[in-house]
Amino acid sequence: MRIFWMGQAERNLMADRIKLSRQPSGEPEIFHSLQGEGHNIGTPTVFLRLALCNLTCSWCDTKYTWDWANFDPRREVLSLSPSDIEERILAYDCAHLVITGGEPMMQQDALAPLVLSLKDRGLFIEVETNGTIAPSADMACAVSQWNVSPKLTNSGVDSARREVPDVFRTFANIEEAHFKFVMSQPSDIDEVLTLVDRYAIPKQRVILMPQGTTQKAIEEGSLWVAALCTKHAFRFTTRLHILLWGDKRGQ
Ligand code: SF4
Repeated sequence: MRIFWMGQAERNLMADRIKLSRQPSGEPEIFHSLQGEGHNIGTPTVFLRLALCNLTCSWCDTKYTWDWANFDPRREVLSLSPSDIEERILAYDCAHLVITGGEPMMQQDALAPLVLSLKDRGLFIEVETNGTIAPSADMACAVSQWNVSPKLTNSGVDSARREVPDVFRTFANIEEAHFKFVMSQPSDIDEVLTLVDRYAIPKQRVILMPQGTTQKAIEEGSLWVAALCTKHAFRFTTRLHILLWGDKRGQ
């Protein structure tokens, strides 16, 4: 059912609770910082980090959102109502929101009323996704920018799980979708070029980013990734939050 006609009270009444990641303090992982990656790097931003993911990338730096063999979900996850989350986001008085994870699209039905409400309030909303779940009509309408990060072989996830052709095509046809590829070694470019060609992704919406969770790894990876971006006319992004603060939660 579409819910554009609803007011805030009706949306809240029908909305499910949303599973969020928790900071070590126990507080929900909603924090104010700078967007550290991609098209809007450097923009003052509120981050909302959701729990759960449908993939299992070997180098994932947020395993506490999904890896229940090594993390305790009772400690790492909490559920809040959309109205509670909205209040916490608006308290920062910041016009830019990034919803990240985990994989936020696993909860898109519960998320849609919150995103619609925040859009009504004038926020610019980015959603970070691994590109395996297609957006609902409500999400497609409300989200300002999609940061689609399809996983490559270097993730260790088998191709049938990480490459969903219909979803790839859907995002390739959305002008507000940027495709960010995490590069572990120079040979990853062959896989990127194959995917860009296979799904007709416009080059100006392709971003390459070095993989790494230390300043040294990002600096070293940046040199060859930047050279590949120059050669193939893709955009380059660093991981600004790693360079500024290291691999620290809540930054
Ligand atoms: S898709 Fe993202 S959150 Fe999920 S396992 Fe991979 S890197 Fe981690």
